[in-house]
Amino acid sequence: MESKDSRDLDLMQDGKRQMELCNACRYCEGYCAVWRAIEWRRDFTDNDMTYLANLCHDCRDCYYACPFTTPHEFGINPPQLFAGLREETYRKYAWPGKWAKALGDSVSGFWATFVFGILFILGFMFVNGGMEGMFQPQSGEGAFYTVFPKTLMTVVFTVLGLWMVGGWGIGASKFWRDVRSTKSEKDKVLFKDIKTATLYAASLKYLDGEGAGCTYPSEEPAKARRTFHHLVGYGFLLDLASTTLAAFYDHFLHIPAPYPLFHPVVILGSVGGIMLIIGLCGLLYLKSKSDKEVNDEKAVKTGSAFSVALLIVAVTGMVLLAVRETGAMQMLLAIHLGSVAALFFTAPYSKFSHFVYRYLALVNFAQEERVAHEAEVVHKEKTVKKPVAIVEGIASKQ
Ligand code: SF4
Ligand code: SF4
Repeated sequence: MESKDSRDLDLMQDGKRQMELCNACRYCEGYCAVWRAIEWRRDFTDNDMTYLANLCHDCRDCYYACPFTTPHEFGINPPQLFAGLREETYRKYAWPGKWAKALGDSVSGFWATFVFGILFILGFMFVNGGMEGMFQPQSGEGAFYTVFPKTLMTVVFTVLGLWMVGGWGIGASKFWRDVRSTKSEKDKVLFKDIKTATLYAASLKYLDGEGAGCTYPSEEPAKARRTFHHLVGYGFLLDLASTTLAAFYDHFLHIPAPYPLFHPVVILGSVGGIMLIIGLCGLLYLKSKSDKEVNDEKAVKTGSAFSVALLIVAVTGMVLLAVRETGAMQMLLAIHLGSVAALFFTAPYSKFSHFVYRYLALVNFAQEERVAHEAEVVHKEKTVKKPVAIVEGIASKQ
């Protein structure tokens, strides 16, 4: 039996070995969706492993419960295994695949895109307004457009937005095709499966640990990770709502930014920004304290890079609000817009795509769970009806 300590092991092969052992053991049944999905399988294909990896929430309950972790020769470590496989998912399904290696696989490629994005916007501002214009205080409606023209901003962010959503869409369709490759007509996804999966995702059900929280960053159950994750998720949605509302005000009501402090755009953006900053700092802190025996080194590096990048966007957005009428506005606007542009550009390759694959894995799980539940109900009905029929048969003969 191979030891899990060797980093040279092929993740897929080692994953199948671990899942076969877990399926024989089944001690962790009920911990999370992964263990039910394992129960419904006898063999594990590459697609099954990709699916299971994206179903795992890295709560680590199974690792701390397992008697077969290193130094045992079985070297069982599902959270580390699944973190490594999730990393592969982001690259495998990204489009165009060649760029995935440069932008998603290497942290330096990811940061190079950020530096390029910021320098591009700074360079444009310099060419447009010269050194004096770079520090000239601006105020009033449309102040941002005096340093970065509206048409250019609209074109750049529309193209990048389409790139991001298109990249996610292509990745999602390839992932879905693979995960559903063995399903038949009777396994089709119903609306109620989508509803169940959405509830699981929105509540982070499997980080709840039935009320106790999850064993992250250490063996002691805690609710911090779920709380910080919620702050990041819902903070991001508030910021998205703020940006969408700002676009509506600008393009349809012809009222351009910046808006007053108590304007709905600013309130949504500020609340979302604060939630994002607290949530991301919390998650980065927990990651720094997490058990290195369970971490996948590469996943920690790329995941942390994404969290720091999102933090830069949130912090520069908040500081921009504070200095928007001073000579520092241009610098902050350049860093903020450059970071957002880079985040959009790398989105199909980075940890940003995590929510796409996780959600689809949950939809697949909800469908499998419903079918299994329906089969259990039919089985119970049969096992109850059979003895009743026997007894009724005996009674009728008497
Ligand atoms: S993680 Fe360990 S305890 Fe849990 S099912 Fe697998 S082998 Fe058993
Ligand atoms: S780490 Fe948590 S979510 Fe992942 S397989 Fe183990 S129990 Fe499930």
